[in-house]
Amino acid sequence: MEPSQLPQSSPNLLDKDQAWLQCLSIIKDNISLQSFKTWFEPIVPSKMAGDVLTIQVPSQFFYEWLEEHYVNLLHKTIKRVLGHSGRLEYSVVMEHHQGEARPYTIQMPGGTGKQSGPEVQMPVNIGQSIKNPFVIPGLKKVQVDSQLNARYRFDSFVEGDCNRLARSAGLAVAAKPGATSFNPLMLYGGTGLGKTHLAQAIGNQVRQLFPNKTVLYVSSERFTQQFVDALKSHSANDFVHFYQMMDVLILDDVHNLANKEKTQDVFFHIFNHLHQNGKQLILTSDRPPKDLRGLEDRLLSRFKWGLSADLQMPDFETRLAILQSKMYADGIELPAEVVEFIAHNIHSNVRELEGALTSLIAYTTLSNRQADLELARTVIKNFTRHTQTEVSIDSIQTMVCEYFDLPVDLLRATTRKREVVQARQISMYFAKKLTKHSLKAIGDYFGGRDHSTVIHSCQTVEDLMETDRRFKGFVDDILKKIKTTTV
Ligand code: ADP
Ligand code: MG
Repeated sequence: MEPSQLPQSSPNLLDKDQAWLQCLSIIKDNISLQSFKTWFEPIVPSKMAGDVLTIQVPSQFFYEWLEEHYVNLLHKTIKRVLGHSGRLEYSVVMEHHQGEARPYTIQMPGGTGKQSGPEVQMPVNIGQSIKNPFVIPGLKKVQVDSQLNARYRFDSFVEGDCNRLARSAGLAVAAKPGATSFNPLMLYGGTGLGKTHLAQAIGNQVRQLFPNKTVLYVSSERFTQQFVDALKSHSANDFVHFYQMMDVLILDDVHNLANKEKTQDVFFHIFNHLHQNGKQLILTSDRPPKDLRGLEDRLLSRFKWGLSADLQMPDFETRLAILQSKMYADGIELPAEVVEFIAHNIHSNVRELEGALTSLIAYTTLSNRQADLELARTVIKNFTRHTQTEVSIDSIQTMVCEYFDLPVDLLRATTRKREVVQARQISMYFAKKLTKHSLKAIGDYFGGRDHSTVIHSCQTVEDLMETDRRFKGFVDDILKKIKTTTV
């Protein structure tokens, strides 16, 4: 309602402050002190025009929360204070955006109180002891076990180009949890690249710098399981309250929340509460937020509020440094060429790099042999044989066609165009060379060609490689590409 439309005889003689004070006293009796402090104390009455009271809330999210949880309570309260035609409007200060935080205000009409949503919230008695899903009896804030592994520290996390942004964001967050714009801090990257290590290093550092802060590490799987248990034992409220007490919450592998709607829902509320109260959230995921499937949009949009930083496979020098740091920590010495050999040959992820080192050491101790290049070669060969995944014919076809810029289905078609024939032959050659498929099976992948065609193709490729340097160049390039993407 515009101020110019003020009713002639307003029944409300209250000004905005008085009206809101009266509202607050009613609201206070209906909800827990904690909720009152969190959700109502930050509100500022900003305008009283006729029957419409405008309240200013700190963020869009705050507004949504009020509308979602307290719409009935607000509706009834406003009617009590301002009479039957009383209404509420919100003015939202937008502030939680990255970059230039230019606050601006948008007007929102208040809810009608008729839409679905919870009835007037009953007081949540948080004075009672809250059940701790980590089963620590007689919970007090400081008694929460952080579930952190002391091994994961910054000083054991080797820095490289692959992790520089993530690592320095992690350090910034650890120095000022909740007070940087990196909230949430989302660390993402493939398996074994150090997400858990880095996330826990932040947690450990916070505990060291701020002993009074409550830090909690939990994997998404465990979080889900606890929530399911809490639902079973009718203690979902306790579950939520427990998590809402944290100063720093680390939720590992959030991609595992995919398609678990109820768990996502409860995490959404926990996230909101913590974020609103300036608490730090650290999340990890196997892919960037934009590629996460099966997660609600409202959750994804919050994941993007802070900073997403990726972890990549370390380059050779960083791999070497990681190996040396592990050897130093374990008091092990190995010839430089052996360490380099490992760093050179394991490029899948850091976990496997460590695994290869451990295997080699185990081997030397068991066989009572000095570690030399020959031994390293044997160990790595065994090691990679277990971990290497065989390249598929599909991906060979894709890579060859990408290289020649041709549509993949042409390989299965009857086209006899020169460049297609060439791509088809090279693909068959790699399928024979790099996979364990039979000639017949390979032929099937190429539109049902018979085994003699496959033999002929392989022969042609080998002959051409000997006679045509340009052709050999193509084949070598493609092989390199296949090796780097699949090993
Ligand atoms: P993720 O959670 O991404 O799957 P982890 O954090 O479990 O990976 O890391 C796998 C292993 O590699 C751990 O033992 C970890 O200590 C080690 N690691 C990963 N990155 C580094 C690094 N930059 N420096 C030292 N160790 C690392
Ligand atoms: Mg992990």
